[in-house]
Amino acid sequence: MNTQFEIAKESKQPQNTAEGKNFKKVDLGGFTDFGKYIMENKELNMKNEGKLFLHDLLNLTGCEISINYAPVGYKVPFKHTHKQNEEVYIILKGKGVFEIDGEKMDIQEGSVLRVAPDGVRTMENTSDSEMIFMVIQTKTNSLEQFTLTDAQIV
Ligand code: ZN
Repeated sequence: MNTQFEIAKESKQPQNTAEGKNFKKVDLGGFTDFGKYIMENKELNMKNEGKLFLHDLLNLTGCEISINYAPVGYKVPFKHTHKQNEEVYIILKGKGVFEIDGEKMDIQEGSVLRVAPDGVRTMENTSDSEMIFMVIQTKTNSLEQFTLTDAQIV
């Protein structure tokens, strides 16, 4: 079964792709226009509006990143956990309520939270304007070194 999403034909499309030996870059446009992105899984007949996954777009190898647009009144239609990945939610715009294991908390622009794989999570936009948030998904305990232990001045 193909569980991956791809950008739908009718979706807004990333622009100005540039690729080199050691990079790949695209322009996604302004976040306020993000509701026009649509990802789909044809095999499962699923469409996801206002969401863009960056893993395939940038050939990521260590994480999945999504950028999400939640219109007024949007509520994630399910609760979910993960098998092995932790998630970091970064709220870029708007306000809402995040629920983990039945505990509800207010989130707003500038809120960042990490959810362990077993955390049963969902969220909703409870404000009167759109929410924009980013989710970084990465395998727990996979990071071996970072910042000054990994960077090299050349
Ligand atoms: Zn998730």
